[in-house]
Amino acid sequence: MTGTAGTAGAVTNWARTITYTAKEYHRPATLDALRALVAGSARVRVLGSGHSFNRIADPGADGVLLSTAALPPLIDVDTAARTVRVSGGVRYAELARAVHAHGLALANMASLPHISVAGSVATGTHGSGVGNGPLASAVREVELLLADGSAVTIARGDARFDGAVTSLGALGVVTALTLDLEPAFEVAQHVFTELPLEGLDFDAVAAAGYSVSLFTDWRRPGFRQVWVKRRTDRPLVDFPWAAPATGPQHPVPGMPAANCTEQLGVPGPWHERLPHFRAEFTPSSGEEIQSEYLLPRPAAVAALRAVDGVRETVAGVLQTCEVRTIAADAQWLSPAYARDSVALHFTWVRDGAAVLPVVRRLEEALEPFDPRPHWGKAFAVPSPVLRERYERLADFRTLVKALDPAGKFTNPFVRDLLDG
Ligand SMILES: Cc1cc2nc3c(=O)[nH]c(=O)nc-3n(C[C@H](O)[C@H](O)[C@H](O)COP(=O)(O)OP(=O)(O)OC[C@H]3O[C@@H](n4cnc5c(N)ncnc54)[C@H](O)[C@@H]3O)c2cc1C
Repeated sequence: MTGTAGTAGAVTNWARTITYTAKEYHRPATLDALRALVAGSARVRVLGSGHSFNRIADPGADGVLLSTAALPPLIDVDTAARTVRVSGGVRYAELARAVHAHGLALANMASLPHISVAGSVATGTHGSGVGNGPLASAVREVELLLADGSAVTIARGDARFDGAVTSLGALGVVTALTLDLEPAFEVAQHVFTELPLEGLDFDAVAAAGYSVSLFTDWRRPGFRQVWVKRRTDRPLVDFPWAAPATGPQHPVPGMPAANCTEQLGVPGPWHERLPHFRAEFTPSSGEEIQSEYLLPRPAAVAALRAVDGVRETVAGVLQTCEVRTIAADAQWLSPAYARDSVALHFTWVRDGAAVLPVVRRLEEALEPFDPRPHWGKAFAVPSPVLRERYERLADFRTLVKALDPAGKFTNPFVRDLLDG
C-alpha cells in the first residue's frame, strides 16, 4: 500500500488497482491518537495491509482512512491456555514466527503470510483443507474500538460473536484479537503435475492432505499442478492420480519457484509450508487482480465443468486458477457460512477493462451453484443477489445498528450490501 499520511494523496491497495477516495489518510502511531482520530471523524474506515481488490476498505470521498500499520504491535502468547492475543494490524508472518517460537501453531494459513490478521478475518480469508475452517474460526475474542470511543470485547459464546469477526470492518476498529493455538506441527509439501478433470474424484483428492490446492491455467482441460501439504503427524494418504513434480514449481507459469515455500516433500515447520509464498519474498506476481467464489462442496465437479465450459474466455485473461476446500463456519457473513465449501480462485492479469467482462461471464456460468464471492476480491454479483445468499444478513444489520448507530464505519461498499 502506498500513500502519504495526513493527506488524501494517492493511497492505493497493494496491487495498485484501487485508489482510495478518502479525504484524509492517517497512520496513527498510538492507540490514543487512533481514538482521537475516530472521535473527531464522521466517517472512518480502517486499512489493514491493503491486500483487497475492491473498495471494501474505501471510506468514500467524505471519509477518513486509518492505517493500522504504525500502531505498536502486540503479540502476547499464553502457552498454558494455548492462545495468542494479537493487535489487529499484525501480519500473519510476524505472528506465526512468534507463536512457533513458543512451540505452538495456528491451525491454518492463507496462501501468503503478508496480510494483517484483522483485515483477513474481516473478509473471510481462508487457506485450504477439508477439515479447516476460514482463518476467522481460530478467533475466540475480538476487541473493538467503537464509534463513540468506547471499547468492547466480544467473545465466543456472546450472542453477537458470529457477526463480530467476519464483519467487513463495519463495526469499529479491531484493536486486538485472541486466537486459538495448537501444538506446533510439521508439514511436508508435495507437488503433483497434470491431474485430469475427466474422472476426477474431487473429495478423495481434496482429502489427500491436510491442505490441498489444485492449480490450472484453463488453457486445456484439467489441472497443471496439485499442491498437497501433509502433516507429518498424520497417516500418509497415497496420491495415485498424478505424477510427482521433479523440481520446485510456482503456481503462475513462468514465475520463479524460489518465491515459493519449500516443496519436494522436505518436512518443515507449519508456517513455512502452509502458505504457498515465502514471507521474505514479494508474494505472487504483484501484477494481478483476483476473484474467488465459494460454493457448496458437493457441487465441486459440476462447477469445475461449468468453468471448463467457458475455459477459452477465462484463459484469455488468467494467470492461474486455484481450487481449495474450506470447512463450514458460523460467522454470519462468512462465504463458508453453514456449508462445507469449495473455493474457485482466479488470479487475473492486471487489466480491469479486460477482466470485468470475463468475471461476468464466469459468474453466469457459476450462477446455478449459488456462489458467494470472497469479500476482499473483485466480483460483479449485484447486492440484491448477495443479500439472498446470506441468510443472517438481517442479524448483521441489527448488530451494525447496535454498535455503530450513526454508521461512522459504514462505507459505500457496506451500505450497498446492507441497504441496497
Ligand atoms: C497476493 C494475495 C494473496 C491472497 N491470498 C489469499 C488466500 O490465500 N486466501 C484468501 O482467502 N484470501 C487471500 N487474499 C485476499 C486477502 O486475504 C484479503 O483481501 C484480506 O482482507 C487481506 O487483508 P488486509 O489486511 O490486506 O485487508 P485490507 O484490504 O486492508 O482490508 C480488508 C477489510 O478489513 C477491514 N479492516 C482491516 N483492518 C481492520 C481493523 N483493524 N479493524 C477493522 N477493520 C479492519 C478493512 O476496513 C476492509 O474492510 C490474497 C490477496 C493477495 C493480494
